Amino acid sequence: MSRSERRSFEIEETWLDVMSRSGGRCEVVVDGIRCSEPMRELAHIAPQDEMHKQIFGEELLHHLDNLVGTCGTYHNGLVELDVKTQPMKVAEHIARLRAKIEEEA
Ligand SMILES: [Zn+2]
Repeated sequence: MSRSERRSFEIEETWLDVMSRSGGRCEVVVDGIRCSEPMRELAHIAPQDEMHKQIFGEELLHHLDNLVGTCGTYHNGLVELDVKTQPMKVAEHIARLRAKIEEEA
């Protein structure tokens, strides 16, 4: 399996894991009400841009607990944390993820 084949296999596997967790529905909850739209995209809570990749590493960014199934662009925007504007929230989220990854190891 080539590197890019492996990568697309991993993405597919991750997609299926989130699909089964979400029951195929958008996982975003607003005011206590879960979105009723079908899941169409995967959103990263700590974003997977170059800066975050360098700071946190890909294992953490692609962890299931950093991913949320969403109905699309609008709810993607609600899920993503920005380290510049929400540094404390990002730090708390990352600390939780690191603890979980260590538990799983
Ligand atoms: Zn939604």
